[in-house]
Amino acid sequence: MNAYIGRFAPSPSGALHAGSLIAAVASYLDAKAHHGQWLLRIEDVDETRTVPSADSAILHLLAQLGMQWDGEVVWQSQRKALYETEYARLAGHTYACACSRREIADSNTGIAQDGAPLYAGTCRAGLPSGRVGRSLRLRVPEGAAAIIQFTDRWQGSQQQNLQTQVGDFVLKRVEGFWAYQMAVVVDDAMQGVTDVVRGVDLIDSTARQIYLQSLLGYRQPRYMHFPVLANEAGEKLSKQTGAQAVAVGESEQAKVRALQQAAAFLSLDCLAATSVAQFWQMATVQWAARWGC
Ligand code: GLU
Repeated sequence: MNAYIGRFAPSPSGALHAGSLIAAVASYLDAKAHHGQWLLRIEDVDETRTVPSADSAILHLLAQLGMQWDGEVVWQSQRKALYETEYARLAGHTYACACSRREIADSNTGIAQDGAPLYAGTCRAGLPSGRVGRSLRLRVPEGAAAIIQFTDRWQGSQQQNLQTQVGDFVLKRVEGFWAYQMAVVVDDAMQGVTDVVRGVDLIDSTARQIYLQSLLGYRQPRYMHFPVLANEAGEKLSKQTGAQAVAVGESEQAKVRALQQAAAFLSLDCLAATSVAQFWQMATVQWAARWGC
């Protein structure tokens, strides 16, 4: 097997909250349990959502909690040329799309698995006359080729039909930013990521990413999607639903408590650690036993 390379890829739309800390802890433990590397990538590709200095707050909290990343931190906003080059290799599978969100919503073609309206394929055969391309889309395969299957280490066997459950998806957005799907696939491949560990809220994206990997000739990483934390209303914790930033200050006890809460959510048995270092040592042993690392 290749040497393990994992990553944590937060979007800097705010400081880490309890939900994003769980993603950091799960990906870190999996990397440590495999004696692998843990990379840190700031996913600031959507510049409209970037909050100034959220990235430094994230780096600071990770360092406070004893989570040391390997190598240099990468910012997606600095990698646009790379996405452009890789996009060019998809020629024949992509097209410019003139449709606005409103037009797509009004087309009533059904709802994709992620809750967004399914794209009707209006611009698939070329831009309608008089219209200008606003976004760039990837044509999804049809028939049996549209079915993508993979085995998730946490969620088990998965299947998604890209044609009926997703539709032709956006690689470059109307605002001019590369879409998450494009940037994440290129970066995971370029950084040699062997294992993606992230929340189950992103599992809907995985079939799209696997399809893109196959078109670009990239190796498919292994996937683990852990359950995500919800608030009392059952909504995923996020900055949009008002999740509080994790703050631990200088108190060792507060740091250990924040880590213990994340570990408990990931179903690890009680870790009676009194220091951050001891927490990581105990948690890594338990994670390795649990996930057969
Ligand atoms: N940037 C994404 C987020 O913060 C994570 C992407 C991923 O792990 O693939 O939700």
